[in-house]
Amino acid sequence: MIKKHTPLRDVLKVANQRSHKGCRKCVQSCTLTSGIFLDDDLKRFAKEMGISKQEAKKRYMDRKELFNTKLHRAKQIKGKYPQGRCIFLKNNLCSIHKFKPVYCQVGTCEPEGEHTMTWYTLKFLVNPKDPESIRQWDSYLRFNSTIDGGELKNLIKDKKKLKRILNYEVLK
Ligand code: SF4
Repeated sequence: MIKKHTPLRDVLKVANQRSHKGCRKCVQSCTLTSGIFLDDDLKRFAKEMGISKQEAKKRYMDRKELFNTKLHRAKQIKGKYPQGRCIFLKNNLCSIHKFKPVYCQVGTCEPEGEHTMTWYTLKFLVNPKDPESIRQWDSYLRFNSTIDGGELKNLIKDKKKLKRILNYEVLK
């Protein structure tokens, strides 16, 4: 069972445990959304492509914010797919598979996919030091479940402080 503090290598094992062919080749999510690139992903990507980080951002990325955390997301191409496919999806395969971002490495189908994505969100996007990030996580939890360790009371152990954050008495 994946928990907030499960190490990446164990999350990857879960994400890659499915062995049947159809699952391993599934790129369905790549037609609906695109990969999130954190700074390390971006550095690795730029190095593999033989371009600068700046060039990589300009050519392939959009700026995004999730849970008040700034990040880059691969551009999405409109056309056949109403929401836009990931720019790296070519001939129904990920063209950067060998150096795709951690976000895509931990992504898998249900039911494990929900847990691995929540793990990613908690590890890289939700920032317990940022009150706005915590408020957005609170809103998310009203309609979604979390993994062990991802509950608000575990992210902010001081109950009074958590209450003040949720009441917008702590802004920064
Ligand atoms: S980077 Fe590759 S795996 Fe990730 S969304 Fe794009 S095509 Fe899919």
